[in-house]
Amino acid sequence: MAKLLEVKNIKTFFYTDDGIAKAVDDVSYDLDKGETLGLVGESGCGKSVSALSIMRLIPDPPGKIVGGEILFKGENLVKNTERQMQDIRGNDIAMIFQEPMTSLNPVFTCGEQIDEAVILHQKVSKEEAKNRAIEMLRLVGIPSPEQRYRDYPHQLSGGLRQRVMIAMALSCNPEILIADEPTTALDVTVQAQILELIKKLQDTLGMGMIIITHDLGVIAEVSKRVSVMYASKVVEYSISDEIFYNPKHPYTLGLLNSIPKLNKGKDRLATIEGNVPAATNYPVGCHFCTRCSYVDSKIYTADSKCWNVEPPLEQVGGTNQMHTVACHYWKDIQVRREREGEKVPHEAA
Ligand code: SF4
Repeated sequence: MAKLLEVKNIKTFFYTDDGIAKAVDDVSYDLDKGETLGLVGESGCGKSVSALSIMRLIPDPPGKIVGGEILFKGENLVKNTERQMQDIRGNDIAMIFQEPMTSLNPVFTCGEQIDEAVILHQKVSKEEAKNRAIEMLRLVGIPSPEQRYRDYPHQLSGGLRQRVMIAMALSCNPEILIADEPTTALDVTVQAQILELIKKLQDTLGMGMIIITHDLGVIAEVSKRVSVMYASKVVEYSISDEIFYNPKHPYTLGLLNSIPKLNKGKDRLATIEGNVPAATNYPVGCHFCTRCSYVDSKIYTADSKCWNVEPPLEQVGGTNQMHTVACHYWKDIQVRREREGEKVPHEAA
């Protein structure tokens, strides 16, 4: 049976004055009903562009999906017309954006904005749409939903605005919810409430969910499977426990190392030195080679494979283990780490 969503070898490029920015290059993942997939990585790694590609919201020009397939229940969204996508967006696949203040329209009330989506997709009367909107505001835990229905976005706190965004996204019972950094703009206590709400709603409604974040803490909370992205590529993929307790890729190790730890006293927080390279100027070989602490110049002096040959995604362990990694030297790195008694970052916490 076809998966709910299959992203297969998708390539999304932007044609800019500085050259071709390969924002997403040969990325694949899938999702089933009721599942949560986490896409994790720093800003500029291609996570959001891959999600916008699913929604077909890439501005063209300068952007274009130049290869691959996005199969939603077997239907290739890449081939759909804009009219067909309008039926799918918000109805079958909905998205929550990072900053609710800029995503909500300031000149319409929260209720009117939810009504609009319901009337467009569900072909119901204005009265029925209003009832649905109030029901959704109640579902996402907004107090006095009848009153909030009439409020403008600026009258609500950040946490309530994000709840309105979630209510709007869920108003047409989507089969897939894409949440792009849904808690980043919120303070920590509100973050925990929103994550709890998202988890509860997913359990109740049985949607497939893709959660995009740079925060491995968020992934640990909500996600069963994780794709780690770096500079347009998936560099490691597995179930969450494997990523946290048995990471293989130096970038995943770096991300885990840079999680703040309570018992580290005055030690400085570990960081991954440098920045994600510009999408118009990725290295020829491994995209992580400009920042990798294991790059061959440090452990394999005579070999320049890291710089010249792009590492393919390789299976870790048996084929039933669902763990892949894109690093030429992941086995050697593991041996070296074991020899040196280096703990998995998670265990070292
Ligand atoms: Fe580091 Fe080389 Fe592995 Fe890339 S291929 S992650 S540069 S060791």
